[in-house]
Amino acid sequence: MSINLSNSQVNIRDSRLGSITSYHGDAQTLIDQSKDRALHFRNRSYSQCSDCSQGCAETLVYHIRGAAVVTHAPIGCNAGVSGQNYTARAVSVARGQEIHNVHMISTNIQEKDTVYGGLEKLRETIQEAYDRFSPSAIFVTSSCASGIVGDDIESVTCEMENELGIPVIPVFCEGFKSRVWTTGFDAAYHSILRKLVKPPQKKQKDLVNIFNFQGGDTFSSLLKKMNLRSNYLVPLATVEQLAEMSEAAVSVHMCETLGTYISAALEEQYGVPEVKAPAPFGVEWTDKWIRAIAKETGREKLAEKVIAQEHERIAPQLQEIREKLKGKKVYVFAGDSFAHSLANLAIDVGLELVGITTLHHDQKVDNTNSEELITLDNLIKSRGNITEFSVCNKQPYEVIKILKRLRPDVMIVRHQGLTVLSAKLGIPAINEGDANASVGYDGVIKFGNRVYDALRTIKFEKNIAAHVKFPYSKWWLEEEPDPFYFEKEEEK
Ligand code: SF4
Repeated sequence: MSINLSNSQVNIRDSRLGSITSYHGDAQTLIDQSKDRALHFRNRSYSQCSDCSQGCAETLVYHIRGAAVVTHAPIGCNAGVSGQNYTARAVSVARGQEIHNVHMISTNIQEKDTVYGGLEKLRETIQEAYDRFSPSAIFVTSSCASGIVGDDIESVTCEMENELGIPVIPVFCEGFKSRVWTTGFDAAYHSILRKLVKPPQKKQKDLVNIFNFQGGDTFSSLLKKMNLRSNYLVPLATVEQLAEMSEAAVSVHMCETLGTYISAALEEQYGVPEVKAPAPFGVEWTDKWIRAIAKETGREKLAEKVIAQEHERIAPQLQEIREKLKGKKVYVFAGDSFAHSLANLAIDVGLELVGITTLHHDQKVDNTNSEELITLDNLIKSRGNITEFSVCNKQPYEVIKILKRLRPDVMIVRHQGLTVLSAKLGIPAINEGDANASVGYDGVIKFGNRVYDALRTIKFEKNIAAHVKFPYSKWWLEEEPDPFYFEKEEEK
């Protein structure tokens, strides 16, 4: 990858990584075709719901301690802010840290602003954010409306930066710009790299950058055994922490989809190596992850000692869990790489994987120096081909037909709204809302116990299913056999 920080806008995933949001077939064919970037975008003629790059960008920048966010958008774009604030507060408590509240103001673009432009309003709102929150940096996120009007956000942020004497950082994350909403993560990282990250003053040889969401502190105890310190980025980190990420010994992430851009950029720009291993979900992948960190930080002997001790420590509980879950069928529904990691973990605790749906698929990763970062390839190498594999950008009408046919005993989902779909079908589900919850050796045990607890709620789900009426026609639910009926031809 070659990152261009002189360009204010990130190169979107659609073109950079050949990302797609539709596929059905088997996993091996998907990975084989991805190697040549042979898959083309396939739209849907009907979409039930979606997400947006702006929301993904704000999932990161809302939670930077000491920063404020100005959203140059109609107020509706920020419908999710109270949920974000709730999460930030809950995770602050879980990590034993000071409560973090989101400091955000919307410019509330109105119809007349889309005719005459909204730059004066933007200037006033940045000033208001400065006066109200005394931030050490202000992020300005764009939206479809400001993008279509063509408001020159870059020049206003430059002017206000000079006036206020703090970084005022534009994040170009208009929802319409990319058909893959995770581009919003990259847009936020791109702006942080352009305007906040400083060249290293010194190297912190025991510091590990962990690119994650607002999750619990589950990495530190494992890294501590390796005499390493965790640097959780970006949510709940301070502006100063972000500036120093170039000083870390290595970068890791809880999901390649989330961390692919920034980790590769840090390696390219500042020589901070991205750890070349799958994320630590499942015993074998955690072993690989520890060994890869050890290789970069000169701790190979210690790594072997830690791995042996951890295996011995969890062995009795793991065996018990595997016996309890043996033969139970599982379906995984989550974002791209995270779904692969959860599938690996599910098999590790004894479940039989009957299928996966990922919300999109990147045909390549940003860091091309290692095949170990291609998580689907890792999954196939570890567990064999997955015959029921689909890519679907969160369309419940599609997934319901897959689930009705495969009838798993339990579902693992990343987004909580989709656990409801599972319950309505009488299938217990667990929600990986805290994406850090299942990492490492302790994570395997915790995950197995959560699945077991979920399976025991089956009567409750069956009761719900008995009283549910879906909003789909009889034709769709009973007569049309193809869940992918609304997918269009590939765009060449
Ligand atoms: S930025 Fe665009 S896609 Fe995103 S919420 Fe606003 S209008 Fe919708």
